[in-house]
Amino acid sequence: MLTKVIEQAKIDRFARWMGHAERIVIVAHVAPDGDAIGSSLGLWHFLNSQDKVANVIVPNAFPDFLRWMPGSKDVLLYDRYKEFADKLIAEAEIICCLDFNALSRIDAMADAIKAAKGKKILVDHHLYPEDFCDITISHPNISSTSELVFRLICRMGYFNEITKEGAECIYTGMMTDTGGFTYNSNNREIYFIISELLSKGIDKDDIYRKVYNTYSESRLRLMGYVLSNMQVYPDYHSALISLTKNEQGRFNYIRGDSEGFVNIPLSIKDVVFSCFLREDTEKPMIKVSLRSVGTFPCNQLAAEFFNGGGHLNASGGEFYGTLEEAKKVLERALEKFKPLLNAKG
Ligand code: 5GP
Ligand code: MN
Repeated sequence: MLTKVIEQAKIDRFARWMGHAERIVIVAHVAPDGDAIGSSLGLWHFLNSQDKVANVIVPNAFPDFLRWMPGSKDVLLYDRYKEFADKLIAEAEIICCLDFNALSRIDAMADAIKAAKGKKILVDHHLYPEDFCDITISHPNISSTSELVFRLICRMGYFNEITKEGAECIYTGMMTDTGGFTYNSNNREIYFIISELLSKGIDKDDIYRKVYNTYSESRLRLMGYVLSNMQVYPDYHSALISLTKNEQGRFNYIRGDSEGFVNIPLSIKDVVFSCFLREDTEKPMIKVSLRSVGTFPCNQLAAEFFNGGGHLNASGGEFYGTLEEAKKVLERALEKFKPLLNAKG
C-alpha cells in the first residue's frame, strides 16, 4: 500500500475539472529529460484512455534516447510549431504543468502559459514552486514527477486504466531521475510502484538498455576525451569536467550527447561533488551542471554562484562569461564551501 502523499482535496478538485474538460494541454520544462517526457506521456496516455483531447508541448527537442517512448512522436516542440502550440494552449480547458517549478523553466512558452485562460495544475518535485497554478501539487521529497503522476492517477481511482505504454513512460521517468535507482531512491514505496508497473507488462531491463545503452560511437569517444581532461580537486573532494564549443564541434556533438557525464566523476573514491561546464551552442553562456553524493547541497552552490538552483544532489545554473571565468567562479565556490565538502556524512 502507498502512503497518501498528495492532499485529497487537490485530487478531488483535479478529478472534477477532468470530468468537465475535453481539451487538455500538458507542458514540461526546457531541454526535457526522462522525467519531463516520462511524466508528460504517462499522463497523456491516461488522458487518452479517458477520451480526452490531450497534447504534450515542450519548449524544445528532447534527446534521442527518449524517442522510443510510446507517444513521443506526438510531442509538440514549441520552438518548431509555435503557432499551432499557441492555439492549443489558448484553447485548453486544463493545462498540466509537469516537472518544473517556475515559468522561467519553460523558456519561450512562459508568456503563452501565463496568459492562458484554462485552469492550471502543477505536478512537480522541485523545491520552492512559484505560485502560478490553481492547484499546486509539489513534493520535493518524491524523487520524480513521474511517480507523482502515478500516484495522482491511482488516487483518482484509475489504476486499471494505466496501459502498458503509460506504465513504460512512468517507469522511464522514475528510473532516469534516480540514475537507474542509484540516488534519491531509498523510499521503499518506489519499489511497490515498480511492482505495480511490472504488472502492466513493462520490460524494465529493456527500458534500461533503450535509455542507457544506445549511445553513438562519437558520444563514447567524447566521454573518453572529457574524462581525460578532468580536473580533480582532492582538497575539496571535488572534480570538474568541461566542454568548449570547439570541442563539441570536433566530436560532432548533438544535444544530449553529454547527458549524464556530470555523474561520472562521482564514481571516484572520496569525490562528493562534480561540476560540468559546457559552452552553450545557442546562447552566449556556460551551462552549469552540478551533482553531489551525500549531504553536500549543490543547489545552494548553484544559487549562490551560478544563478541557478535545483535539488540537493542535482542542480544547475547558467553563467554568462567565458569558460575560464566560470572555472574561476567554481574555484571560489569550492573555497567557500570547503568546510561542507570536507564534512563526513
Ligand atoms: P541538469 O544538470 O540535468 O541540467 O539539471 C539538474 C537539475 O538542476 C534540474 O533538474 C533542475 O532542477 C536544476 N537546474 C538545472 N539548470 C538550472 C537553472 O538554470 N536554474 C535552476 N533554477 N535550476 C536548474
Ligand atoms: Mn524530475
